[in-house]
Amino acid sequence: MANIVSIVGRPNVGKSTLFNRLIEQRKAIMDNESGVTRDRHYGYADWTEKFFTVIDTGGYVVGSEDVFEEAIREQVELAIEESTVVLFMVDTDSGLTELDKEFANVLRRYKKPVLIVANKAETEQRRLTVAEFYELGLESEIFAVSSQTGEGTGELLDAVVSYFHEDGKENPEEGIPRIAIIGRPNVGKSSFLNVLTGTERSIVTDIAGTTRDSIHTHYKAYGKEFILTDTAGLRRKSRIAESIEFYSTLRSLKAIEESDVCVVLIDAGRGLEGQDISIIGHAQRAKKGIVLMVNKWDLVEKDSKTADAWVKSIKERLAPQNDIPIIFASVLTKQRIFQVMEKAMEVFENKTKKISTSKLNEVMQAEIEKHHPPAYRGKYIKIKYMIQLPSASPSFVFFCNHPKYVLEPYKRYLENRLRENFGFTGVSVSLFFREK
Ligand code: GDP
Ligand code: GDP
Repeated sequence: MANIVSIVGRPNVGKSTLFNRLIEQRKAIMDNESGVTRDRHYGYADWTEKFFTVIDTGGYVVGSEDVFEEAIREQVELAIEESTVVLFMVDTDSGLTELDKEFANVLRRYKKPVLIVANKAETEQRRLTVAEFYELGLESEIFAVSSQTGEGTGELLDAVVSYFHEDGKENPEEGIPRIAIIGRPNVGKSSFLNVLTGTERSIVTDIAGTTRDSIHTHYKAYGKEFILTDTAGLRRKSRIAESIEFYSTLRSLKAIEESDVCVVLIDAGRGLEGQDISIIGHAQRAKKGIVLMVNKWDLVEKDSKTADAWVKSIKERLAPQNDIPIIFASVLTKQRIFQVMEKAMEVFENKTKKISTSKLNEVMQAEIEKHHPPAYRGKYIKIKYMIQLPSASPSFVFFCNHPKYVLEPYKRYLENRLRENFGFTGVSVSLFFREK
């Protein structure tokens, strides 16, 4: 189970500030690895090696007086529903307000663990006012913190992780790939699921608002065995476009976390859009395998060059993290559905592949001979040997004399040679440099 922590509260209490603090450390790491745009409202964080997704609902609260207008309320409630722990933020500078009380009323309706975060508590005087928030009547601990300076956030995070589900990475049916079908509303996820499962369990309509629940089911189809982490689509009906989008994103986040390989659908009628890139980015940051399925290919007028042109343009937009299989398919005509599943299995194999230390060193030392790491500030860099870590996605440690001086372009060179020689298409490859 994925652990999700959402930050809720009225505007200006400091939600985004805390959000940025929580994702900061990982963000710095991730940005080096990924060329795709980061989403402002979701991020990955970790505390004492426990990983979680953080949602900043602040991004959805427009600066209007009527905070509880329908759309906002809906989005905040959706975030609460999906969360493992809710951080309810209040402000020790302005003190308790009517809007805080309204938020508390919403929170009371859910049986979720809520931690009250009394923010901006940099001064002794403000820390003393914290007790007034007991008036909210929530059975929650109150944490006095300063999102700006980080004071108190350690204690808060200790409490947060104590609510987490046990290790989110475990696959109950070891060896069988867990596949998530993800993509923005209306790309054809439900239709695709129907084809795979051969049932009418997933209802397909033209309206993005079909009601359906999240289920993980073990399937055999197209000669393959897999578990579908079926959280695509919407469980809740909404008239509001932003809510549909928001909810769909939440569900994909969960589906991504609980999968090994994500089949990301995009709509050939629309091409690769910002939202699609953002979804791919989530899957990449979560280090999941990816197959990009350009669905509704039946709608595209094409000649012999069309597919190549699409591949080129998609890869350009995803660069440099673009070693991703792209398949042009149609759920409607069932064109290349088999290939999509075949690719998903291949990507799973790439993700779980283990390279022997001797083979790895033999191949990679030859590549290093061809192109040595450039000297940095007069220091010659010698990479002595490398190993693959026993992790869920391919990770390699390079032992060398000056790990700090191995710069990004050379890391990219090594990653590309690993990909070429060993075949890691569709999966993220992590490189670490350690002193030896
Ligand atoms: P949001 O609307 O809840 O996301 O709030 P923001 O994160 O945008 O913060 C609102 C304002 O409060 C900004 O001017 C922040 O700089 C300020 N702020 C946030 N956290 C703190 C804090 O811990 N201490 C103080 N003094 N100000 C803070
Ligand atoms: P979801 O919101 O991603 O689950 O998308 P749906 O499966 O509900 O599909 C949205 C719409 O796209 C429906 O009207 C489908 O019939 C249609 N659709 C799905 N796949 C294809 C396809 O390959 N070609 C065409 N032309 N339409 C499709």
